[in-house]
Amino acid sequence: MPAPSPAPSKAAASSAQKALLKLGLTRDIDLALHLPLRYEDETRITPLRNARDGSVVQIEATVVSSEVQLRPRRQLVVQVEDDTGSCELRFFSFYPSHQKTLAVGARLRIRGEIKGGFWGRQMMHPAFRTAGGELPAALTPVYPTVAGLPQPYLRRAIASALQRADLSDTLPPNAAPPVHQTFGAGGLQPLYSLQQALRFLHNPTPDVALATLEDHTHPAWQRLKAEELLAQQLSQYQSKRERARLRAPVLTMPAAVPGVLPLDAQFLAQLPFGLTRAQQRVCAEIAADMARPVPMHRLLQGDVGSGKTVVAALSAVTCIAAGWQCALMAPTEILAEQHFGKLVGWLEQILAPLGKKVAWLSGAQKKKQRSEMLALIASGEAALVVGTHAVIQEQVQFHHLALAVIDEQHRFGVAQRLALRQKLAHAGLEPHLLMMSATPIPRTLAMSYYADLDVSTIDELPPGRTPIVTKLIADSRRDEVIERIAAQVAAGRQVYWVCPLIEESEALDLSNATATHVDLSEALPGVMVGLLHSRMPTAEKKAVMELFTAGVMGVLVSTTVIEVGVDVPNASLMVIEHSERFGLSQLHQLRGRVGRGAAASACVLLYAVGDNGKLGETARDRLRAMAETNDGFEIARRDLEIRGPGEFLGARQSGAAMLRFADLAADIALLEWARECAPQMLDRFPQLAERHVARWLGGKAEYLKA
Ligand code: ADP
Ligand code: MG
Repeated sequence: MPAPSPAPSKAAASSAQKALLKLGLTRDIDLALHLPLRYEDETRITPLRNARDGSVVQIEATVVSSEVQLRPRRQLVVQVEDDTGSCELRFFSFYPSHQKTLAVGARLRIRGEIKGGFWGRQMMHPAFRTAGGELPAALTPVYPTVAGLPQPYLRRAIASALQRADLSDTLPPNAAPPVHQTFGAGGLQPLYSLQQALRFLHNPTPDVALATLEDHTHPAWQRLKAEELLAQQLSQYQSKRERARLRAPVLTMPAAVPGVLPLDAQFLAQLPFGLTRAQQRVCAEIAADMARPVPMHRLLQGDVGSGKTVVAALSAVTCIAAGWQCALMAPTEILAEQHFGKLVGWLEQILAPLGKKVAWLSGAQKKKQRSEMLALIASGEAALVVGTHAVIQEQVQFHHLALAVIDEQHRFGVAQRLALRQKLAHAGLEPHLLMMSATPIPRTLAMSYYADLDVSTIDELPPGRTPIVTKLIADSRRDEVIERIAAQVAAGRQVYWVCPLIEESEALDLSNATATHVDLSEALPGVMVGLLHSRMPTAEKKAVMELFTAGVMGVLVSTTVIEVGVDVPNASLMVIEHSERFGLSQLHQLRGRVGRGAAASACVLLYAVGDNGKLGETARDRLRAMAETNDGFEIARRDLEIRGPGEFLGARQSGAAMLRFADLAADIALLEWARECAPQMLDRFPQLAERHVARWLGGKAEYLKA
């Protein structure tokens, strides 16, 4: 019930129209699917005597006095009474029209939170209107809205859209979702059709258990969640089928020439190690995909340090041996640079006899070098192109690209992945796509978002690694940690020190890292202590990384820029300051920077205690989880529970944001149902499937495909 306001002007109505567009509420069905955040109960009148302190109530009462007070600030103070008690209303902002409605003698219906102060009951800024008219039979919905779109306007728009919208069923016959029925006031609640579910959720009867609406477990909510998940699965399977109709170059090793070692064998022969069984298995999975004339769409996941780069390199070798080009894109300059160095080391020798090279592309490189590289790429002389986002820029013309590898794929947005695919299409052929991620995707997430993606998993670390020991240490014991650093450096090892993440403030991150750098330099005389942060010029970053990689620099202090992929096997100690501020998966990734060589490695999670001298309970549980397990999948699972799916999918525009109602962790049964139902529905009821997707996803389906 709104406070009365002047009748809406034409301008207000058109600004409300604009606001509806802004919320994406264009079709009737969009409005029908715009569900309440919460409800207000206006179905009852509470006698003042029964109105308890702190509760939100609707009363009906008569104004006995109304006056404007000027102290301590200007306010309208109104006394009202019903047969059982009295209450004072206070308004700090009010118009003459309000005063008129609140005139002495007026009978009002008033709704607000009761405060039972020393001076009697009070309501601050309650909603009110002249009493009279029937009480509504259903709860009043309160919708998510934006400025310029008042609740009453939105309510009316939604109510009329609900009447007009086509809400006929689009679920396939005999495929009821596994909705759990709940008990309500009238016994077991009925199951709902889409239309019934929407009508109910917009205007529920007052006997409903509000908690089941709030936590979305009510059968009407479950019905909507099932529908939404089905739409999402359908669009995934649709794009999988569309992809199956596309063509890609067949990439296989050419027939062996007698006396010449095949390129892949040459590559493996010069590696300083043999592949693990898991690496061999995923290489075979990828090779099988690339040997088909259909574009590969595969995610290679493996814990940090599991050795994904060499798998990508072997796939590139196959691609090159088949006579095509390969591109590898990494999210940061440092990581791309490191890949470039490693791949040149592995491939230069074996590519030279073929007259082929490895090209480097980065946003930071000099014009001259860049145009040289672009020429190499366009002529096809560069068989492998390594770089940052620069790889997908417009000026880059590939000669005949057949394989694109995206490292740390969750770091790239959906739009960038789409751009990559579109850009690389060549003469009617699509490139094969291999995405790599060190943030293992929990099963439920893989099932939903990546129904359109094949997944290969490296589930074994290279041999000879000693597990990383993780210790929780209070920040007050910093000195001991510094002693430990000195001992590691004395033993010829290297140390990372990661500075806290200060949300929303890069500047603070930086000042903290700078201060720590000074402290450690003073505390560790004779040791070279370096500093790395994201604001540094590229050349400087590169110089610092080179000193650390070469083993000259003993300690590297950094902000979280080293998070992804950096590989310095001699580093054996990782210190993370204010570890309580990081997400679990992020801590796991950081920790993965050590334990890459044979030396025993450790990770110290420094934490700061609160004012009470203690670490908060959840923070402690989370950090303990880090100490208890080195298994990235287990950590990912716990992180999903704590942080939700956005973290794994990276970009804000990720598919996760597209799920408005369903919760991947809580609605597994519905997800499994949708996953099973979708392919059958596409086969047997394609038109229904199309209608269902259009209804739920409208124009957004394209985004879910990247
Ligand atoms: P990630 O999967 O995190 O990208 P990397 O590809 O950077 O891991 O590999 C981590 C380290 O392990 C690198 O130094 C790499 O050369 C090494 N490595 C990879 N595979 C093996 C293996 N089979 N045996 C020994 N070392 C390996
Ligand atoms: Mg990597």
